[in-house]
Amino acid sequence: MSNQPMKFDETMNPQSRKRPLLEIDKPTTMMCTVVAVDHATLCYRVCALCERTLPENPTTACKYCSFTNSFNPTASGSKRLFRVLMSIATDTKVFVVIMFDRAARVLFGCSADEFFDFAKIHPYAAMAAGRALEGEMLTVTLTTPKNGNAQHLRVASVVPLSSSFQPAIETLRQLYREKGVS
Ligand SMILES: [Zn+2]
Repeated sequence: MSNQPMKFDETMNPQSRKRPLLEIDKPTTMMCTVVAVDHATLCYRVCALCERTLPENPTTACKYCSFTNSFNPTASGSKRLFRVLMSIATDTKVFVVIMFDRAARVLFGCSADEFFDFAKIHPYAAMAAGRALEGEMLTVTLTTPKNGNAQHLRVASVVPLSSSFQPAIETLRQLYREKGVS
């Protein structure tokens, strides 16, 4: 069986532990263009109660909250949050940044759960969302992650610059609606 899902887990590989390409010592706001979005892993599963990361296997419950959940077995034990790697270009360089749920929602226009459900019906949605965002001009505020192992600068906030910007989910809905009609 070689068809295991691809894992993007560079923290496991000590070789890839290097400092961010760009060193900043305080939050820095800059204009940039989206070069590419890593659409292979746009979101991850967390416990719905404590938001600790859970494995992708949907039968795995949170070991910290399983006692609480047992009182309410009908409650959904997990949800998804965005964690998006994207490369951006400024006027001087191209580099990879990581964007978590709050910032990613601005670009995707929905929650990670909504996006995940949409992608279940439309298998190429993640790729199409990445493509929809490519070339988008943004103002981003970048911070250096507190975690010393973190390799990428973190997008603390993002503002699309184009007046015609629309969130990826809107582009996708249009795209698939048009396809559905034909
Ligand atoms: Zn939990």
